[in-house]
Amino acid sequence: MRRNKGLMISAIALVGAIALTGCTDSGAGTPTAAPVEEDVTFEEGTTMAALNEAGEITIGTKFDQPLFGLKGPDGNPVGFDVEIGKLIAAKLGIEASGITWTETVSANREPFIQNGDVDLVVATYTINDARKEVVSFAGPYYEAGQDLLVLAGNEAKITGPDDLADKSVCTVSGSTSEKNIAAYTTNIIATDTYSNCLGPLRSGEVDAVTTDNVILAGLADQNAGEFEVVGNPFTKEPYGIGLAKDDTEFRDFINDVLEESYEDGTWAEAWEATAGSVLETPEPPAVDRY
Ligand code: GLU
Repeated sequence: MRRNKGLMISAIALVGAIALTGCTDSGAGTPTAAPVEEDVTFEEGTTMAALNEAGEITIGTKFDQPLFGLKGPDGNPVGFDVEIGKLIAAKLGIEASGITWTETVSANREPFIQNGDVDLVVATYTINDARKEVVSFAGPYYEAGQDLLVLAGNEAKITGPDDLADKSVCTVSGSTSEKNIAAYTTNIIATDTYSNCLGPLRSGEVDAVTTDNVILAGLADQNAGEFEVVGNPFTKEPYGIGLAKDDTEFRDFINDVLEESYEDGTWAEAWEATAGSVLETPEPPAVDRY
């Protein structure tokens, strides 16, 4: 029911967008509520000034995660992470059409930032100390928790990670999910993307898929009736926006953008236009200016 409502709202919004712009090829994917800053200026020498002057930004996100980052029919990804990226771009004075979306999988997020392949990563990216050694994080802008996805009907047999001792699990290399689940089972298949885990779950090659609850909720919703999220989160996964290590001005700027979006309602609007088709609107977490 909720899904249909979400689709209907998207359809109405899309018609509205077409009526306003006369075209759909804006690179925008889903509409963002944040107006693009027209006359904003930044201190010379900052990342913000360089991006604003270029009118372009490259953002890494997931391309296969419904609700957060899923490549749409026009080639642009849609989802809550994508909306957060657009919100930041808008405050930098960059139109959605000036954003280049690059697919990042869990394992290449740090190298993509370190090598300058992307300016930012907004990709269900947990803030943690190991990653802070090589990149910096703004945020968090959401807090997820690791959970399990099983075949519909199996949720009584697997109720949490303690039931996995003699079971096999699929997850993704380079993720916190992979690290955390190692405490519960040694029978782990690790691949590049969570959508790659659905085949092995369907075939019975694995008993469960594990990652953040909201990613699993998106996959369950995308494949209605096939899978169930166990609903017993066992970690805390604060999502941050990854950027070049020690670019403190850029990090402060993004933290300001996030706090403003909490206050003026654009964060909640971004949620409702995306993940909100399946998930209740949460309270935004406090930004951590570590
Ligand atoms: N949030 C976790 C992480 O950053 C799992 C989800 C993902 O792999 O994107 O590793």
